[in-house]
Amino acid sequence: MTRPVFRFAPSPNGELHLGHAYSALLNSDMADKAGGRLLLRIEDIDAARSRRAYEEAILRDLEWLGVKWERPVRRQSEHMADYAEALLRLRRDELVYPAFMGRSEVRAIVSEAEAQGRAWPRDPDGAPHYPDRDRTIPQKERRKRLDAGYAHAWRLDTAAALAQASGVIEFTETGEGPDGDTGRIRLDPRVWGDPILARFDTPTSYHLSVTVDDALQGVTHVVRGRDLFHATSIHRLLQVVLGLPEPAYHHHRLILGPDGRKLSKSFGDVGLREVREAGYTPTEVRRLIGL
Ligand code: GLU
Repeated sequence: MTRPVFRFAPSPNGELHLGHAYSALLNSDMADKAGGRLLLRIEDIDAARSRRAYEEAILRDLEWLGVKWERPVRRQSEHMADYAEALLRLRRDELVYPAFMGRSEVRAIVSEAEAQGRAWPRDPDGAPHYPDRDRTIPQKERRKRLDAGYAHAWRLDTAAALAQASGVIEFTETGEGPDGDTGRIRLDPRVWGDPILARFDTPTSYHLSVTVDDALQGVTHVVRGRDLFHATSIHRLLQVVLGLPEPAYHHHRLILGPDGRKLSKSFGDVGLREVREAGYTPTEVRRLIGL
């Protein structure tokens, strides 16, 4: 029997905090219990924010925590060709379209609509949906702009992808979504509008690379924070249209800061390094985060 495959996938744009420690240790515990493997993936496609020094600090902190992962570590920035290939397939199937508008142009369109009293749809992270205009540009005009070298991103044509997926996106949740949902779950990816799959300056995006990598690495169990629960609808949609296998999902609770806010990089005082330097042992860290 093939062994279950788990992964912890931090972005090296800051040091690990207690929320990451929880996620890494939970992955490690679940992999051990299932007799599975644990992979570590460094999600460093954002060149402007990723730092090698943070990556090194992450490895050091994980080692200190007692997390054991397989080598080699997959570093996303070294696998751009894999994401480009997936994007090309989506282009051939006409499931993505070039998006020519920059952020300020989108903002202007949204503000104008809202000033006229129209409610503009927003995604679960609060970002406005991308306007329809580029999705409906005639093929000829699109070609002309691409040939002329207009700057563009690539966005998923969610409606077209959903139609190809027979309109239904489901996954199995073994943890809990924000509303306590668990078991076989049906989500509507249209809440994300047409998400970006490749940026102006980076030939991929979080959604595309995470989906491609989970498949390429044979990940069978995705264990991650509840803040990514809704993103799963996009990952599942991409899996269906790209013909990739479906892993099981386990979204875990978030470790909240003292004021009840979700921990973030700005919450430096509860960084793992600070906790370690204050003399806590890995066992005490586990107790601190309820593991
Ligand atoms: N790299 C993402 C993060 O640090 C996690 C991606 C995932 O687990 O799907 O938030």
